[in-house]
Amino acid sequence: MTDPISRRAAELLHLRQRSLGKGAPVSLPITPTSVFNLPGDPAGFAQYGRFDNPTWEATEELLGHLDGAPALAFPSGMAAIAAAIFAAVKSGDRILLPADGYYTTRILSERFLNRLGVSFDLRPTRQFLEKGFEGYSLVFAETPSNPGLDLCDLQQAATLAKEAGAVLVVDNTTMTPFGQNPLDLGADIVVAADTKAPNGHSDALFGHVASRDEPLLQAMRDWRKLSGSIPGPFEAWLVHRGLETLELRFERMCTSAETIAPRLAEHVAVGSVVYPGLAGHPDHDLARRQMRRFGFLIGLTLASAEAADRFIETCTLILPATSFGGVHSSAERRARWGDAVEPGFVRLSIGCEPCEELWAAISAALDEVAT
Ligand SMILES: *Cc1c(COP(=O)(O)O)cnc(C)c1O
Repeated sequence: MTDPISRRAAELLHLRQRSLGKGAPVSLPITPTSVFNLPGDPAGFAQYGRFDNPTWEATEELLGHLDGAPALAFPSGMAAIAAAIFAAVKSGDRILLPADGYYTTRILSERFLNRLGVSFDLRPTRQFLEKGFEGYSLVFAETPSNPGLDLCDLQQAATLAKEAGAVLVVDNTTMTPFGQNPLDLGADIVVAADTKAPNGHSDALFGHVASRDEPLLQAMRDWRKLSGSIPGPFEAWLVHRGLETLELRFERMCTSAETIAPRLAEHVAVGSVVYPGLAGHPDHDLARRQMRRFGFLIGLTLASAEAADRFIETCTLILPATSFGGVHSSAERRARWGDAVEPGFVRLSIGCEPCEELWAAISAALDEVAT
């Protein structure tokens, strides 16, 4: 028997052909248009570029296919997160955010939600479920969290959210639908930065939400239409193209990360390694249950900020850049953005280079730092 996600991966490559008439181009056309030919009654037709675009709709079809629910495309991961939050909260609500996840969601809440009468609390991802979700109208989880790679149990989170009457939003950026399916585990909304692995070529920003809850989906669609938070057709086309190779890239990246993480842990220059696939990771058992793969991100701590910078800058196959999930392996010292991590903590994003070539370059750069 084939597994459901492999079936989705195979079908993804043939979704478009189902709607092709004879003589139609097989590749997706880019349709940059603000207006549509629209005489008479506009109901039921594409109307205006802020409401409809055939290129982004084709990308949504692929994203929805992978998440197993209707998807809405946004111009960035943060635009998708903002849509999920603003569509679901009202004045007087309390929401719960991870203390250690992607930091911009916290800043957005602090700057713009607080003054609208929506307050928020923070909890570390590892202790996210400990006190339940009573009193929250929305709970936002990120697992494995960026950059610490801590986990929380999504099935349990969904049960607690249901009991409390809270909407559970899960940021699935670090895993992609090929690594983990939050909606199948009970989340109400999944959000993701397709800027990262789904696009994969570091040349576009993009995001999406997906949900099986029709009222929530409609609210997010209205938010996009009314706030104007729409993706461009060129970016949608790039992500559409990227999604066709996501499964292949994700498999290579995760397999390489699984090979490289234990070797890093053995290297004298490395103080500690965080990777959900290592038996020593505090949530390794949960990772085995909840995720299909262990991901392509590895956290490693070197002796100092200087050692970390030197490692990143001397490794010939590492791109010194923020962000992750691209075909090129990349790394950065997260403390430079103020993340609550050690000065020598490096977030390494394993790319698509042949694994042994990549390891040779990484170990050579670590040797250099160790001497
Ligand atoms: C990058 C990232 C985002 C934001 O995505 P943008 O496309 O940069 O807006 C959100 N969540 C996580 C976990 C991310 O890594």
